[in-house]
Amino acid sequence: ESRQIPQRFLFYKPYMSKGIAERILLEQDLHNALANNEFYLDYQPQVNLKSGAIESVEALVRWQHPNRGFVSPEIFIPIAEECGLIIPLGKWILETACQQAKQWEEQGLPPIKVAVNLSLGQLFQQDLVEMVGEILQRSKLDAHYLQLEITESMTMNIDQMTQLLHELKALGIQIAVDDFGTGYSSLSYLKDFPIDCLKIDRTFVRNVQHNPNDEALVSMIISMAKHLRLKVVAEGIEEVEQLSFLMEGGCDYIQGYLFSRPISPQQISETFHDLHHH
Ligand code: C2E
Ligand code: CA
Ligand code: CA
Ligand code: CA
Repeated sequence: ESRQIPQRFLFYKPYMSKGIAERILLEQDLHNALANNEFYLDYQPQVNLKSGAIESVEALVRWQHPNRGFVSPEIFIPIAEECGLIIPLGKWILETACQQAKQWEEQGLPPIKVAVNLSLGQLFQQDLVEMVGEILQRSKLDAHYLQLEITESMTMNIDQMTQLLHELKALGIQIAVDDFGTGYSSLSYLKDFPIDCLKIDRTFVRNVQHNPNDEALVSMIISMAKHLRLKVVAEGIEEVEQLSFLMEGGCDYIQGYLFSRPISPQQISETFHDLHHH
């Protein structure tokens, strides 16, 4: 029997131990966080560039840890993926977002579509379609007002993914491809996947007003989306110059700090009230 040291330990250096211990502690805290109600959702408006109206919001999960304070989802979502917690957490996020959208409707706000991020682990969840269907039923939210954001990934084969997306679409929901252009997939899936929307990643938008290559890429993505009859959302708009470029280019929706940071459900309601009274 071979007793070789696993490859990953060969690179171990004492200074790494803090990182590893820290990571184990974080994972433990993450396990308690759901039961302790430490998660909540903020919502970032997506603005229709033609009408100026907020038609949709993206739900973004937040973790307020009692001692650590705010922990970024960029840190804890990957850990939740690795330890399997993403399944119950993802369900909680979806349920909370759907209930919230229904609540805005009951408050008399104009219809708001809610976009919810699905992580990779959820795409492999056996009962994903059934779960989404049940959550829609329980929350009584019309399926048209739910959009799921998925990211391009090389770990699921195209046939499986196409099948899954068709089953989700059959529920009446919308599908968006998030972080478009940064993933591993080929463009060919765009013709097979039943998707409604492309979200152009922030990294392309960031320098669009200074970098001709980014400008070319963003224009290309918008015109390709038009030809495929997909809606386009540009993410991470912080500057007016970026906005004017996207308006001229025919982008459908923008999402970014220029218009609004992610805000609480209460602030979303207030934003609508302000829009109506001014
Ligand atoms: P994402 O899905 O690409 O979400 C957009 C991120 O960009 C959000 O960061 C948002 O706050 C940020 N953002 C929006 N506008 C601007 C802008 O103008 N400038 C800059 N610099 N940033 C902007 P956040 O909330 O920290 O989330 C980071 C990532 O964590 C998300 O990227 C997503 O991958 C993941 N995540 C967040 N919430 C969820 C969730 O509920 N479920 C899952 N599975 N993943 C989530
Ligand atoms: Ca997203
Ligand atoms: Ca994104
Ligand atoms: Ca991202």
